[in-house]
Amino acid sequence: MIRWGLIGASTIAHEWVIDAIRANGGEIVSVMSANAERGAKYAADHGIAHSVTALDELLSGQSIDAVYISTTNELHKDQVLASAKAGKHVLCEKPLATSLDDAKAMVAACKAANVVFATNHHLRNAATHTAMRDAIAAGKIGKPLAARVFHAVYLPPHLQGWRLDRPDAGGGVILDITVHDTDTLRYVLGDDPVEVIASTQQSGLAKADLADAVMGVMRFKSGLIAMLHDGFTTKYADTGFEVHGTEGSLVGRNVMSQKPVGIVTLRNADGEFELKLDHQNLYETGIAKFHAAIAGNGKPAADGEDGLWSLAAGLAVAEAAKTGVTQPIDPGL
Ligand code: NDP
Repeated sequence: MIRWGLIGASTIAHEWVIDAIRANGGEIVSVMSANAERGAKYAADHGIAHSVTALDELLSGQSIDAVYISTTNELHKDQVLASAKAGKHVLCEKPLATSLDDAKAMVAACKAANVVFATNHHLRNAATHTAMRDAIAAGKIGKPLAARVFHAVYLPPHLQGWRLDRPDAGGGVILDITVHDTDTLRYVLGDDPVEVIASTQQSGLAKADLADAVMGVMRFKSGLIAMLHDGFTTKYADTGFEVHGTEGSLVGRNVMSQKPVGIVTLRNADGEFELKLDHQNLYETGIAKFHAAIAGNGKPAADGEDGLWSLAAGLAVAEAAKTGVTQPIDPGL
């Protein structure tokens, strides 16, 4: 059984990851919060035996095998470095960090410590995206030429905090959502992005020079172009993910979601078919792969290098929007 420590008494752990760890037979031993009172309440509410306020205490106090880091993004780096040094396997939230140099240091530290390092890009674990990936790999749409990602949503009121007013914490829609789009495109297409141009907007929620909406066009190594629309202020839009090829199209609807939902339609010369999907909890699938990787079986769903790619793309999108100039996407691998 894998024994876990939670670094961050967060909403995402509360809503998804605590249950996903337990569904995979993991035990959550301890939680770290900067606020002792909040941490104690969080631990009690979630049936976690210990709460601590110092990272050292979490890493050395109880015997744990792995940590889940879901603090705000500027804190991830030091927490990953300390966890790796203590020999703990690390599941870190996206974006890995607020700069590429920090993220590279995190990946290198985990490699040097020989611990598993994963980025929590949950959408790779969706039946919808895997079905699109498999259909493309099987040649069902010929050569992919273009993709369209619709990931503009309404940021729920309980999450309207640091994402909207803290650039230092990696707030804004790009590091929150565009990084997921990039990772999902890489996963579905089996291709890497090379450059991007983008425009951002402040459309009512974000402050402090942060964007709450962005549109961009990304070019991939194969020549494919992908358009993205991400937002925090789009109350009534649906989400979607489409890939259009020389011989067919894949149209995913309601697929950019934390929930195991959505449909995918394949359209080609043979007609229009709904792909068969075996929906499973995305976070549970991610934890299952992480546990397996710890046991020496395979890789996590998204590893540290995948996290470098999505962060490099997110930072390039932000820079492209700021300068109006196409930016290269290069994680330096
Ligand atoms: P939260 O704001 O819920 O948590 C981040 C930190 O804020 C916590 O570590 C906690 O600090 C503090 N905090 C949380 N709630 C309160 C509160 N009520 N009062 C005071 N402080 C509070 O963030 P999220 O859970 O939304 O995001 C955390 C990380 O997870 C980010 O990196 C984000 O990008 C990522 N994320 C990933 C998702 C995915 O599907 N992969 C989805 C959502 C988020 P402390 O620990 O010190 O108590």
